[in-house]
Amino acid sequence: MSTFQAPKGTYDLIPPHSATYLAVREAIAAPLRNSGYGYIETPGFENVELFARGVGESTDIVTKEMYAFETKGGDRLALRPEGTASVLRAALEANLHKAGNLPVKLWYSGSYYRYERPQKGRYRHFSQVGAEAIGAEDPALDAELIILADQSYRALGLRNFRILLNSLGDQECRPVYRAALQDFLRGLDLDEDTRRRVDINPLRVLDDKREAVQKQLAGAPLLRDYLCEACKAYHEQVRELLTAAGVAFEDDEKLVRGLDYYTRTTFEFVHDGLGSQSAVGGGGRYDGLSEMIGGPALPSVGWALGVDRTVLALEAEGITLDIPAATAVYAVPLGEEARRVLFRAVTELRRAGVATDFAYGGKGLKNAMKSANRSGARLALVAGERDLAEGVVQLKDLTSGEQTAVALDAVVDEARRALG
Ligand code: AMP
Repeated sequence: MSTFQAPKGTYDLIPPHSATYLAVREAIAAPLRNSGYGYIETPGFENVELFARGVGESTDIVTKEMYAFETKGGDRLALRPEGTASVLRAALEANLHKAGNLPVKLWYSGSYYRYERPQKGRYRHFSQVGAEAIGAEDPALDAELIILADQSYRALGLRNFRILLNSLGDQECRPVYRAALQDFLRGLDLDEDTRRRVDINPLRVLDDKREAVQKQLAGAPLLRDYLCEACKAYHEQVRELLTAAGVAFEDDEKLVRGLDYYTRTTFEFVHDGLGSQSAVGGGGRYDGLSEMIGGPALPSVGWALGVDRTVLALEAEGITLDIPAATAVYAVPLGEEARRVLFRAVTELRRAGVATDFAYGGKGLKNAMKSANRSGARLALVAGERDLAEGVVQLKDLTSGEQTAVALDAVVDEARRALG
């Protein structure tokens, strides 16, 4: 029988590489935890209707990429393709918005699923860390989120990323722009699929990656020229706050993003070392989403950063994260009695918080020492019959090779001292 492989478009996270993923998730989460965001976890699947209404019936994510299925009980569900709709659904369901403390600030971390054509940086199962600030309209909140994402990328050592910023207007000015854009697009020579998109979601046509289409778009009306006074003022404040925080950004009037729910501020983090899948994260304001999924008016803003692509960005910049060795002490018993004694010492060391591992499987000394070195441990704890007869174990510094006998009941203290 042939062995199984991970499904197309997926991959496994395996040590030691997986440690980088954990560190990236942690680096993105740390500034959020430090800024009033509480952790939220929602199911991996939701009613399909939530995404159809929340993400938008005209988006590729919903029409082409969703893993939708019917359960044996007849429920229509979908694996989550993104986090915002679920988080908002959960916040509404738990009445977090009624606790009188707006905005409700939440962060999350998890797996997302899109049936996309796989390529480097684009997978069918991927991982995001995201943040949502629900229930406040305040340019400082939009700025806060962008600043925090910037902070986490910088903490990881990333430098070759750029922040693209745009405003998509609101329910007052966007429809006027939409109509003007439709007029313009209907005068172009476009294929049937694109013409259909002009009817349903004309802003998405601006996002078309094909050069021939982009050429035709040269004279397209720009949303910037249609923004109402309130949207203009709001956007200007976001820009000023970012500038005051020393966060550089580029105005990109063509940035529309692939989800229908965005209003006003939208942004994307792109990395210049990633080729075609250059967006490492993105987000924006979604003032109408709550009402779209049956809730009250709750102006909100959020982002999601892709963990997979952030790891690729680190590789592109040649950054190796400083991840401490998982094991500090490695115990090597020589003989049965030593096994019992050292296993007890290992348990004590672990209970004292020292990362410790043990040579399992009755390895000989040579093999066990090889494992000790591979583990990255700084110290080996070696004991044979003669040591035990004297009530000691050998504490060996694996870097210098130096070895000292320490009393069995002093192992924890001595190991700690040696580790500094
Ligand atoms: P989006 O919800 O499409 O704005 O995605 C936010 C971020 O998630 C992107 O900037 C990517 O870093 C990441 N992402 C989205 N789709 C994928 C995918 N298919 N594979 C890997 N990462 C993805």
